[in-house]
Amino acid sequence: MKKKVLSMVLAVMMAVTMAGCGSSKAPAQTAAAETEAAAEDTAKAGGKYIIATDTVFAPFEFTDAEGNFVGIDVDIINAIAEDQGFEIELQSLGFDAALLAVEAGQADGVIAGMSITEERKAKFDFSDPYYDADVTFAVAQGSEIASYDDLKGQKVAVKTGTNGADYAKSVQEQYGYEIVEFSDSPTMYQDVLAGNTVACFEDYPVMAYNIQQGAKLQIPDGINAAGSSYGFAVGKGKNAELLSMFQEGLKNIKENGKYDEIVAKYTK
Ligand code: GLN
Repeated sequence: MKKKVLSMVLAVMMAVTMAGCGSSKAPAQTAAAETEAAAEDTAKAGGKYIIATDTVFAPFEFTDAEGNFVGIDVDIINAIAEDQGFEIELQSLGFDAALLAVEAGQADGVIAGMSITEERKAKFDFSDPYYDADVTFAVAQGSEIASYDDLKGQKVAVKTGTNGADYAKSVQEQYGYEIVEFSDSPTMYQDVLAGNTVACFEDYPVMAYNIQQGAKLQIPDGINAAGSSYGFAVGKGKNAELLSMFQEGLKNIKENGKYDEIVAKYTK
C-alpha cells in the first residue's frame, strides 16, 4: 500500500512539475512515469513478484518440524518460478488476508489452496486447476455426529472467507445449526477438539492429511460436498504476464514429472 501511495504522490509531483516546465522531458520525469506505469499493474518489489498464501493449510502450506515453510503450493510456485525464470517473495498472511492483499494490489498473486469459484472470478483471474478438493466436515474422534441431520441445534466451525464457510452457510437453514467463524484452520480444529463446536467445515485433502498426522478428528462417511479445484490467482485484469508464466510453468512441471513428485512428497 505504501508503495502505491508513494507512486501516486510521485505522479502528482510529476504533473505539477510538468505543468511548470511546459513540455520539458527531463530524464527523472520519464523514470517516474515508468515507475508509475509499473506500479499500476504489480506490487513487484526489487524484481520479485509478491505471492500471498495461507499460514497453516497442510499439506499445501505449513511450517515443518525444522521450521521451514513448505507444502504442495510452496513447492509448485517455486518450481514454476524456476522453470519460467522469475523470482518470488512468498508472504504467509492467512487465507482471507491473502485474497485481500491481492485485491488491494499489495500482492501480485495468491496460491493458497484457493478454490476456483464463479463468485471469485469477478475479482480474480485464475490459472488452470492444479488440484481437486471436496469440502467435508470433521468431528472429534468418538463423536456421535455422523450426518448433516445430526448437526441440528449444534454449533459448527468454519474458516472466514473460504468456500467451506460458504457451503456451511448455504445449507445452514436446511440443517439448523449455528456457525462460528475462525481465521485459521488449526484454531478451528482446536475448537472442535475442545467441544465448543461439534464439527468444522474444511477441504477434504487438508482434513484427511491432518487426521493422518494425528489430529484427533474423524470424517463421517459419505458427507463430502461442494467439489472444487484449486487455482493460482492474480487480481482481475492484472499481472497477465505472471498468470501466463504460471500456466506455462504448470504445463511444464506436469510434463516433466516435477508436479507428481511434489504431490507424492506430501501425500504418501
Ligand atoms: N479451498 C478453500 C477456499 O478456497 C479453502 C482455502 C484455504 O483455507 N486456504 O475457500
